[in-house]
Amino acid sequence: MSSWRDNVRNVEPYTPGEQPKEEDVIKLNTNENPYPPSPKVMEAMENIRHLRKYPDPAATELVEAIAQYYGFTKEEVFVGVGSDDVLAVAFMTFFNGKKPVFFPDITYSFYPVWAELFQIPYEMKALDADFQIVPKDYYGANGGVIFPNPNAPTGAILSLEVIEDIILHNQDVVVIVDEAYIDFGGMSAKELTRKYDNVLVVQTYSKSRSLAGLRIGYAIGNQELIKAMNDVKYSYNSYTMNEPSIVMGKAVLEDEDYFQETRKKIIETREWFKEEMRELGFSFADSKANFIFASHKTVPAKELFEEAKKEKIYVRYFNKPRIDNYLRITIGTRKEMETLLAFFKRYIG
Ligand SMILES: *Cc1c(COP(=O)(O)O)cnc(C)c1O
Repeated sequence: MSSWRDNVRNVEPYTPGEQPKEEDVIKLNTNENPYPPSPKVMEAMENIRHLRKYPDPAATELVEAIAQYYGFTKEEVFVGVGSDDVLAVAFMTFFNGKKPVFFPDITYSFYPVWAELFQIPYEMKALDADFQIVPKDYYGANGGVIFPNPNAPTGAILSLEVIEDIILHNQDVVVIVDEAYIDFGGMSAKELTRKYDNVLVVQTYSKSRSLAGLRIGYAIGNQELIKAMNDVKYSYNSYTMNEPSIVMGKAVLEDEDYFQETRKKIIETREWFKEEMRELGFSFADSKANFIFASHKTVPAKELFEEAKKEKIYVRYFNKPRIDNYLRITIGTRKEMETLLAFFKRYIG
């Protein structure tokens, strides 16, 4: 007996962090920015005037604003509905070889999901015991390479020298650097895209620019890469970027002072929080992101995760091999982190 069920694409979907409905929780589980977006974003809403019409399929104003901000041409910038959309398009566009695409075993858990969805062969390379990427692992023949820098959920950063070394060993495939957290202290690989035509750098407005709700991500790379991505995008949905995203996304780049101020506050809070956590008996890789990935020497992570939730403090726990004794804790406001620390002190004793 045949059934339509035989023809269904079966996929195990990505599980995003919980979004609790109550307002009075301390939410440190999805790496959102604790500060609101720049006031310029709300002011820009008045310029949204053309909802009757289809938006510009090329999102020209936003692409040009991003290109100008970073000193690239508009042909070197691709925008999408969050970097998840940008990364999905990149997987579809660049990972069509027969050899496996390489990425770390502990990393953004959307990568294996896209690989499965698009039927791309892949191989996960184990991080070392300190949760660091081992560059040599990426030297072998492959169909492409992708890793976040800083890595998620570890927060560990690679230097530009190490990234360039990985690129040098992978000249015949596309290398994607997912820089969702780069504004919290790392060096961006953007400039390497001028030197290597096979490098794509992906960033997002969701974390450092406090706009996870707007859904804007972008990629910077050689114009041939960007054209290939646009060709794929126009082959399934021309109007991914709506007018509010284009208008507000452009406005946020016009408030550099606000960006620098909130970014610095998060970095300062993170560095202070690290010290407090060490004193409480937690260990973690040195994070350059807006979260830390921490394990306690005696109390299991799962227990801390569940007990914190009872106090309406949400952190992220992954029940997965190698990382099931770790908590990923987003850096919120100083006050939120003080409340979390007070809970740890009370509970751990
Ligand atoms: C958050 C995140 C993204 C996606 O964020 P968007 O909201 O879709 O822009 C991509 N990669 C990593 C590693 C992330 O943590």
